[in-house]
Amino acid sequence: MYPALQKELESYERRTPKSAEAHKKNLKRLPLGVASNYRAYDPYPIFVAEAAGSKIRDLDGNEYIDHNLCFGTLMAGHSHPAVIKAVEARLHKGTVYGMPHNMEWELAEEICTRFPVEMCRFGNSGTEATMHVIRLARAATGRDKIIKFEGGYHGLHDAALVSVKPHPPADDFGDIKNPKAVSGGAGVPKASLANVLVATFNDLETVERRFKENPNEVAAIILEPIMMNVGMCFPQKGFLEGLRTLCDKHGALLIFDEVKTGAKLCWGGASEYFGVMPDMICLAKSIGGGFPLAAFGTHKRVMKLISDHKVFHGGTYNTNPISMAAGIATFREVLTRLNYAHIDKLSNKLVAGYRKTIAKVGLQGYIASAGANGVLMLYPKEVLNYRDWLPIDVDLWRHYWFGMVNRGVLCQPYWWDEQWTISVQHTEADIDRHLAAFEDIAESLAAAQQERLGAVAAH
Ligand code: PMP
Repeated sequence: MYPALQKELESYERRTPKSAEAHKKNLKRLPLGVASNYRAYDPYPIFVAEAAGSKIRDLDGNEYIDHNLCFGTLMAGHSHPAVIKAVEARLHKGTVYGMPHNMEWELAEEICTRFPVEMCRFGNSGTEATMHVIRLARAATGRDKIIKFEGGYHGLHDAALVSVKPHPPADDFGDIKNPKAVSGGAGVPKASLANVLVATFNDLETVERRFKENPNEVAAIILEPIMMNVGMCFPQKGFLEGLRTLCDKHGALLIFDEVKTGAKLCWGGASEYFGVMPDMICLAKSIGGGFPLAAFGTHKRVMKLISDHKVFHGGTYNTNPISMAAGIATFREVLTRLNYAHIDKLSNKLVAGYRKTIAKVGLQGYIASAGANGVLMLYPKEVLNYRDWLPIDVDLWRHYWFGMVNRGVLCQPYWWDEQWTISVQHTEADIDRHLAAFEDIAESLAAAQQERLGAVAAH
């Protein structure tokens, strides 16, 4: 570990002793001391006391401008007044029914108006949404195999937990033209792995190859239209259109996993942004305004499989009135054209500020951004796929992240595959503070990078 990073870590530990203590307690009863593996990092994670609007406060009373926003779940910001009002109004009218009610068609109507789907069903997490659409796609086509992209994250069920970071490590992922399906962790059955074909993002040839090798066996292609679990990796011109054509040619369905992009890209999500129409869409995270809410939507003819009792979909907590009230308020009062314009304005300011500082200090890296999302990519050139993303200088990234945190800015979730979110509650002043923190640390980052690149070159 190099001295500038060491200094930031010492400062972090000095500022957050109560988090260290709380983590120690958690470790006794929760593996890794956390409730989701993504929340664990060294030396220990920040423990939260409370949050409001664009800010979050830790147990030691340190306040941060929050661009983590629960891994991009809070484009509404924390406790958005319209969402809280809607939820409070429901809290004393029962919290779960396990029976239909009048908010279901209201929210379904919002979703089917905004996204190119005719019918939808609800759930509680992104994992559920991708799991159910994959099953539905398999039933609709009578085929078992799906194509996913290396590095693409679609949740935690068996069909999704394949070739995701930190697996495959470089030594067993095969040629980039023929990437191997690698289990995302122990416990994923081999039989399940055999039904997941892996292709390279932005490389249509690898997709075509999978179709050719598995004639009439591929049910669907699933992807994030912008791969947002390797920083931000954009589809190159023609890539999404090419996938649409290949799906049509081979009778497979195109699934857009819009768990992140659905709400945060623009009013109509990725299909509006890119003008490519999928067959199925998965939504979660920011559509719930901070409450557990997910949905998947598709054509009537595919949903008929559920209506005809051929495919089973259910869930105790589906359409619980609290999440539904939050979802309706979020669609009507948070995810509005006006609010997207506000976020675009803040995003332009943030991106321009970062770019200016990057150029000034000579940092090797670039800013990727779209909608409410953005990220500092510490790479010499644009990342086009998982393999491009892998050779990150982790220490340099940690230097950036802890440096920003020590200056009161949670610039994104911990982990270099994530990105920042700007919420509707962020202000110009928040962006100014974010940029001031980056300016304060940028020279030290650039110097460390130069030194490390020099050391690599000399080696
Ligand atoms: N798909 C994508 C694209 C995601 O980013 C995530 C979560 N990061 C998921 C699915 C899984 O969502 P959840 O954590 O709500 O299960």
